[in-house]
Amino acid sequence: MRRETYDAIVIGSGISGGWAAKELSEKGLSVLVLEAGRTLDPARDYLMNAPAFEMDFRYLGDIKRLNARQAVQKKCYACDEGAAQFFVDDIDNPYTTPEGKPFDWIRGRQLGGKSIMWGRQCYRWSDLDFEANLKDGHGADWPIRYRDIASWYDYVEGYAGISGEKLGLAHLPDGPFLPPMEMSCSEMFVRDGIAKKYGKARVLTVGRVANLSAAHNGRAACHYCGDCHRGCTTAAYFNSVQTTLVDALATGRCRIRPFSVVRSLAWDDAKGKVTGVQVVDGQTMQALDFQARIIFVCASALESTRILLNSKSRAHPNGLGGNSDVLGRNLMDHTMQSGASGNVAGFEDKKTFGNRPNGIYLPRFRNVTDQHPDFLRGYAYQGGGYRASEGWGRGVTTEGFGADFKRALKVPQYGGWRMSLGGFGECLPNPENRVTIDPQVVDKWGIPVLRIDMQWRDNERAIMKDAQVAAAEMLEAAGCTNVKTYDNMTPPGLTIHEMGTARMGKESKTSVLNKWNQVWEAKNVFVTDGAAMASSACQNPSITYMALTARAADYAVRALQRKEL
Ligand SMILES: Cc1cc2nc3c(=O)[nH]c(=O)nc-3n(C[C@H](O)[C@H](O)[C@H](O)COP(=O)(O)OP(=O)(O)OC[C@H]3O[C@@H](n4cnc5c(N)ncnc54)[C@H](O)[C@@H]3O)c2cc1C
Ligand code: SF4
Repeated sequence: MRRETYDAIVIGSGISGGWAAKELSEKGLSVLVLEAGRTLDPARDYLMNAPAFEMDFRYLGDIKRLNARQAVQKKCYACDEGAAQFFVDDIDNPYTTPEGKPFDWIRGRQLGGKSIMWGRQCYRWSDLDFEANLKDGHGADWPIRYRDIASWYDYVEGYAGISGEKLGLAHLPDGPFLPPMEMSCSEMFVRDGIAKKYGKARVLTVGRVANLSAAHNGRAACHYCGDCHRGCTTAAYFNSVQTTLVDALATGRCRIRPFSVVRSLAWDDAKGKVTGVQVVDGQTMQALDFQARIIFVCASALESTRILLNSKSRAHPNGLGGNSDVLGRNLMDHTMQSGASGNVAGFEDKKTFGNRPNGIYLPRFRNVTDQHPDFLRGYAYQGGGYRASEGWGRGVTTEGFGADFKRALKVPQYGGWRMSLGGFGECLPNPENRVTIDPQVVDKWGIPVLRIDMQWRDNERAIMKDAQVAAAEMLEAAGCTNVKTYDNMTPPGLTIHEMGTARMGKESKTSVLNKWNQVWEAKNVFVTDGAAMASSACQNPSITYMALTARAADYAVRALQRKEL
């Protein structure tokens, strides 16, 4: 059988795979994108404009189906009736966890991956993050520093379109932002109150978000309808289906093959390198092989590591990249849902207009210049000011009838303003937080699945404790009343920032990838998604995956030209 051969194969078409496809094909390579899930048509599948009365369950969701097929996915706030189609079927895509150690693995398996439903918050890392492992000894030192990636942040942000405010903070570097979205009156009130008490040490700003606050790169500005997770028909937020993949296809050198579930990478002993990938056709179950000179593994952090672990050969009995026993270890996620909220008095004559698809951000302030006695690393806050309002739906539980009753229901009723600050905390790299292949279980396509063994430890819990206390202090200092802390820390996985398990590093003994995201054991294989992360910082990570991917693609093409791969 003649195998199809390309310059490059990209596994996965989400945030990272989209960037790899665009960069490699624009630099002249023939590229095959292998995507496990179906293809998408934004005009048909993106539902931001679908009114509730057109939905079978009025957006309340098909509870029976969710319980039967998406018992894990339904825990994600975004998995509603319009967006459940973008989350995996948990029965077809199983994984296992040890007794008493839950891990909620939220996944998207279609063209675009999770870039369809993501929250779009984008924050750069700085040397505070890249130097953290070296300084406190947890994890292995990153092989790169901010200067190595800064221009790549510029590049990906300039293309994607990130709206936000420049703050001039060394530990949360600015980028070429589009104009910031406006804060609500309650948010400005709290921002000013915090500034009065803490000066420049604690800054509240509007979120930096991959929603266009102005027309950009041929895409329309966001019109604040607010349900981005159901897909945007005007392409006003960054998702690979409407941006990077379009540009990759436009080169004429990129082919996207949906329903292509990659099982493993094919190692050739004679050539001493990986020559292609082994695939199961998602619809016919047929086994297929594709060949390429280089492979970009971008299937999302844990799926990429699963592919590496399943790529066993005589030379790599523990999987490709597994010879150092680091592969699968140091799984991280962020902690969330601990913080505080309080009432903001006044502004009863004001209400928000539209549905801003963004919240506020309060960058990390702990362990930036001094050391907190209770924990290492830090956290940032996300949240926002909101005014409880009830629309016509309150008629369901209100007594009344007739024309006057209906007219009254058309006027929304507003409660007071409330402001919430929710902590997003850093997770220390710990080799005991790890994934392995479960020898007992396979997925619908016969591919061995992951066993995920992770738990929060003392440092993560101490961070979230402080996030509650400090949030309450700041809200009170800003003049909020009825301030209440909350501690609803979710299990690992549910922040959907899973990363690590095939980390970058300086040495092959202590890492899986080198500073260019190349597998030490197979230089023509690049892993550029969250698997590559050597620490987690506390910022939402996807913009860093984009920058690392574009950087690695640039390096790979130059290395090919030099005939090094
Ligand atoms: C509700 C929600 C909110 C989020 N909010 C934010 C946020 O505000 N900011 C932020 O930075 N991040 C956020 N994230 C996380 C963000 O979506 C991910 O970090 C990002 O999508 C990861 O990109 P990726 O390319 O690694 O993976 P994905 O985007 O998940 O893409 C992986 C692709 O690989 C495919 N694939 C998987 N296995 C295989 C295989 N074996 N063979 C072939 N293809 C395969 C999948 O089908 C998928 O298309 C959020 C996620 C969700 C779900
Ligand atoms: S809020 Fe903006 S980006 Fe989101 S779906 Fe609506 S128009 Fe699109």
